[in-house]
Amino acid sequence: MKKDQIEKLVSDFPLVKKLINLEELSWFNPNITNIAEALHHIPLNENDVRDASDRLTRFAPYLMKAFPATIPNKGIIESEIEEIQEMKEELMTHYDTKINGKLFIKKDCHLPISGSIKARGGIYEVLKHAEDLAIKEGLITVSDDYEKFISPEFKAFFAGYKIAVGSTGNLGLSIGIMGSKLGFDVSVHMSADARQWKKDRLRSHGVTVVEYESDYGVAVEQGREKSKDDPKCFFIDDENSLNLFLGYSVAGESLKKQFSDQGIIVDQAHPLFVYLPCGVGGGPGGVAFGLKLAFGDDIHCIFAEPTHSPCMLLGVHTGLHDNISVQDIGIDNITAADGLAVGRASGFVGRAMERMLGGYFTIADEEMYKLLGIMNDCQKIKLEPSALAGVKGPIHVENNKDYLKRMDFSPEKMRNATHLVWATGGGMVPEKEMKQYLQASQLR
Ligand SMILES: *Cc1c(COP(=O)(O)O)cnc(C)c1O
Repeated sequence: MKKDQIEKLVSDFPLVKKLINLEELSWFNPNITNIAEALHHIPLNENDVRDASDRLTRFAPYLMKAFPATIPNKGIIESEIEEIQEMKEELMTHYDTKINGKLFIKKDCHLPISGSIKARGGIYEVLKHAEDLAIKEGLITVSDDYEKFISPEFKAFFAGYKIAVGSTGNLGLSIGIMGSKLGFDVSVHMSADARQWKKDRLRSHGVTVVEYESDYGVAVEQGREKSKDDPKCFFIDDENSLNLFLGYSVAGESLKKQFSDQGIIVDQAHPLFVYLPCGVGGGPGGVAFGLKLAFGDDIHCIFAEPTHSPCMLLGVHTGLHDNISVQDIGIDNITAADGLAVGRASGFVGRAMERMLGGYFTIADEEMYKLLGIMNDCQKIKLEPSALAGVKGPIHVENNKDYLKRMDFSPEKMRNATHLVWATGGGMVPEKEMKQYLQASQLR
């Protein structure tokens, strides 16, 4: 963008100036509508989510065979929720802010197979593709036992097909591990942010890792370009895929069940706030979509992004969506939160979710590191930096009197509230790497 264009943007949207200055900030969505209205603007509905959930159920017997770690939950990839009382106390002291209600964590960091939120969307899309191919070939019908997918015959069949994806790390990890297990020839195009151990792990699974010096956008673009002329190659498009989105969205129904099992009430008098770290948007967008379908207007989803990569906030706030990147306004997209190092948000997700989301906030790298240390000290939960982005969410909500007033969140309602931070990754981080994260957290 030229200097005068940036000046115009800043005068139209003063908040952009703060983004450029890398200030931590929050923006609560003035355009939020009720769920019924918001759904008119999304090309998906609850039938699509149910279809995705049914598909995952069909694959459960296969997943138990292929990944014994999925056996305890009967082949369904799901994570637990846990109340984090000590963390809440510590946050209140640290930020000198009262947090009303209860604080919970959603442990996607400990999802089986790939240890991050990407075990939802990434694995789902690979399974959907495998199913499509197998049905077309006449190898299986939806009423068969899907354990068959583990047979040498299926593996040999899938070896004739390729899967490619661009990733900052975790999506590549999910798709690479799942794809290679089924027998596919998988290539992962990794951006410069991707951690070495993630590349090493993938190579050990026989996945081809293509490395780039540039950021996520370029890795995706190159991956897409290299796949497009090969009819046997399926490119998993993190920026536009409806199937990835649906894979994430099944989280809604299962969270509803988890809360109900634990006797946690969510209704108008007991609001639920969910804080989701956002990169390109598919993961948090798909989860938020599923949550909105499950809980309706009583749930309030808030996205968190690094101050150096606030692509979704920038795109939605200015209405420019994927027609603007953080680099366009001089932000470098360099952050320790590698899962969130995305300069240009998904236009599909931004447009689909802009009426459904409660708000957005940004967080500095130093804060994510600090919270990483505090989470480990208070709760013995080890997370990667990206997964801490949402933790400061309750502080932003409690301190924004305008938002509380506009949404009619009375002090009484807030005392009944539940805050849930979505811990999106960290379960597979090698010990040595985790030690470095914890050391870094002490320095800040
Ligand atoms: C990918 C990722 C996210 C965000 O998901 P997007 O679909 O990129 O928005 C958040 N946390 C972690 C750890 C991730 O790997």
